[in-house]
Amino acid sequence: MLLTFVKLQKIIPKNWTDGLVVKNLWNEQDAQSFLDNAGPEEADRQLALRVYTSRLIGQDPDMVMHGGGNTSVKVKRPNIFGDEIDVLHVKGSGWDLETIEAAGLPGVQIEPLNKLRELLALSDEDMVNLQRSNLLDSTSPNPSVETLLHAYIPHKFVDHTHATAMLALANMPNVEEVVKEIFGDKVALVPYIMPGFELAKVAADIFDQNPNVEGLHLINHGHFTFGPDAKSSYELMVEHVSAVEAWFNARAAQPAAAPSSTISANSILPKIRASLARAMKAHTGNQDQAAPFLDLRANDQILSFLTRDDLGDLAKRGVATPDHVIRTKGFPTIIASDDQASVDAAIDAFVESYKAYFARQDARVSDKKTMLVPTPNLFWVPGLGLIGAGANASAARIAADLGTQTIQVMEWAEANSGFYPIKEDDLFDMEYWSLEQAKLGKAKPKPLQGKAVLVTGGAGAIGLATAKAFKDQGANIFLVDRDQDSLLTELGSLGMDHDGAVIDLCSAEGPQQAVDAMVRRFGGIDILVSNAGAAWSKSMLDMDQDTLRNSFELNFFSHQKIAQAAAKVMQVQGAGGQILFNVSKQAVNPGKDFGAYGLPKAATFFLVKQFALELGELGIRVNGVNADRIRSGLLTDEFIESRSKSRNISAESYMAGNLLKREVEASHVADAFVALALAARTTAHIMTVDGGNIEASLR
Ligand SMILES: [Zn+2]
Repeated sequence: MLLTFVKLQKIIPKNWTDGLVVKNLWNEQDAQSFLDNAGPEEADRQLALRVYTSRLIGQDPDMVMHGGGNTSVKVKRPNIFGDEIDVLHVKGSGWDLETIEAAGLPGVQIEPLNKLRELLALSDEDMVNLQRSNLLDSTSPNPSVETLLHAYIPHKFVDHTHATAMLALANMPNVEEVVKEIFGDKVALVPYIMPGFELAKVAADIFDQNPNVEGLHLINHGHFTFGPDAKSSYELMVEHVSAVEAWFNARAAQPAAAPSSTISANSILPKIRASLARAMKAHTGNQDQAAPFLDLRANDQILSFLTRDDLGDLAKRGVATPDHVIRTKGFPTIIASDDQASVDAAIDAFVESYKAYFARQDARVSDKKTMLVPTPNLFWVPGLGLIGAGANASAARIAADLGTQTIQVMEWAEANSGFYPIKEDDLFDMEYWSLEQAKLGKAKPKPLQGKAVLVTGGAGAIGLATAKAFKDQGANIFLVDRDQDSLLTELGSLGMDHDGAVIDLCSAEGPQQAVDAMVRRFGGIDILVSNAGAAWSKSMLDMDQDTLRNSFELNFFSHQKIAQAAAKVMQVQGAGGQILFNVSKQAVNPGKDFGAYGLPKAATFFLVKQFALELGELGIRVNGVNADRIRSGLLTDEFIESRSKSRNISAESYMAGNLLKREVEASHVADAFVALALAARTTAHIMTVDGGNIEASLR
């Protein structure tokens, strides 16, 4: 059985053709529980409801995604002198509406913000500085780049989304006509201006001229609603988005029948990784350039979209809302066939075109920029699906989510007056805006960030400890185990952007299936930790063929087969890789009645050397760990008890029976795997983790 768990928190796209997708999620009991947890102060109660409806918006990917959109509430609070002042709580940079808390809505004094409106111009640096210096709590995150717009709308609650339907509307050339048709005078239009001071002033002037509107529609950008309380502002947003969805659904073109897949994911994904890593290396000069993660999405809607005659034209149009550009770049790359030469040609063409775009634009602007890595983050592969690319699984997922949403935006808009987003100058200004790039964070990446790590026997003590140790170093993990229940539990403990599959590695196809499932999920494989194993105990005199052959199947052949399958993917990727085996001290230091275990382990010990010898020229390092006496499925408490009793010692003394006189734990084995993964010039090495045992030490 093969079962892959794709643990995407937001499974998108939904089936948009089913009709209205945005729902009113307001629930009196939930709202009350937010109020119950707030303090008695009126300002805190309003803020609690602001948190509640922000989350309602955040949990619907058709409202906002991945840090997009923002919300605010205006309250009165006493300052340190006891004077009552007006305060704006607005979404802070780095917070996501889906999971926001009160701390994610920093409070800013409104009066100084209002004074700014009289200025003719204001630099971004001065705007950020003034907002920061008027925070109630100086340790708060930076208030949103759209803070001033929230401040200048006089309503108490303000909600801003990049809802899918609104983006389709916002990018149509006849947006003015359609807004009038749907909303009459209830919604005013704001022309496209990059977020910040100028947009806030223009939007505020438009509001002042139309003070009775329920919302503002920002061309090429998104939508605002507002109201006297949390519920009415939120419900207006739901009402407006639903009205636009209904308008599009009434005019939706019949989608073409989805073709069946013609390109194999397992064939093309490692080639795309290889090509991206090569192009990135050419730019960064980093010889150990990590290959990006890939996140493939395929459903009927995507496959049908990819059959469109105008696909090449649509690929040159741009982004559905400006802040997508930092995640997806401006345009997707179309790949039409799965041979390496076609993949390389498509990616090289993107890189050349990106460099030309950068040169043109950098010549236009006065403050000179440094070019970002010029490789694509989004792919359209007709016959396969849409692929997001990113430095780790999370970045690839975000690119894929936004790319998927954009397909719906394009289809809706193209079925009407067309999809015509912001043009090149505005796109560049947004992509190279320091306040946008700041959203991506500048923390130094962890040593194994960008590494896709496959751990077999992932639900056992050593497998799970190893997965966690690699995760702590920044890697994304794919766990394989044959026990579904424990695998699900362990995956839950790893959290988002790690995944796994239930596979029996002793089945004929199991090892290949494990590697295929991993490649399909993350695009490839960088590190294999071949860990699955089990012990059989029998004397050589009583040994039957079945016992010995079963042990060889798991403790030797499954390791040989999965290493071979992983190495083949690494060869295509062309970026080196690593294979790590969990061997055993039994490989060199036999224990009585453990022949059935030790014999295949001795063969696996040799396997380390044989693979290291043959894979070295591909840059693939192969190492192993010899561990002993670790509490696990192999060494159960009952077994420890019987062993220690037969030696007339306590279980503790038995477990600490080594040179260091300390029990060796699964985490120590995990640390050894990580140490080998980080030892850049080490291959064909076996590291012993047994607390010290001269008989089992290697020459
Ligand atoms: Zn926005």
